[in-house]
Amino acid sequence: MANPVVSDPTRPQEGIQWSWCLHARCRVVDPHLFFASDGEHKGPRIRREREAKRICGHCPVITECRS
Ligand code: SF4
Repeated sequence: MANPVVSDPTRPQEGIQWSWCLHARCRVVDPHLFFASDGEHKGPRIRREREAKRICGHCPVITECRS
């Protein structure tokens, strides 16, 4: 019996367009801006999220990202 085909999770799924990601503003900023660190306090979290939202607010592919 032949082995079943196992999809590779590191490869984009067929039929899904990812090219918009090339225009994402978050590609050129520190990724930590978009993710809380362990034990992050409220003040730093609010400032980090505010900056992340500012970047997203100027992103040309925000509609694609949201969908
Ligand atoms: S809207 Fe989405 S793609 Fe654009 S910067 Fe924000 S997280 Fe990245």
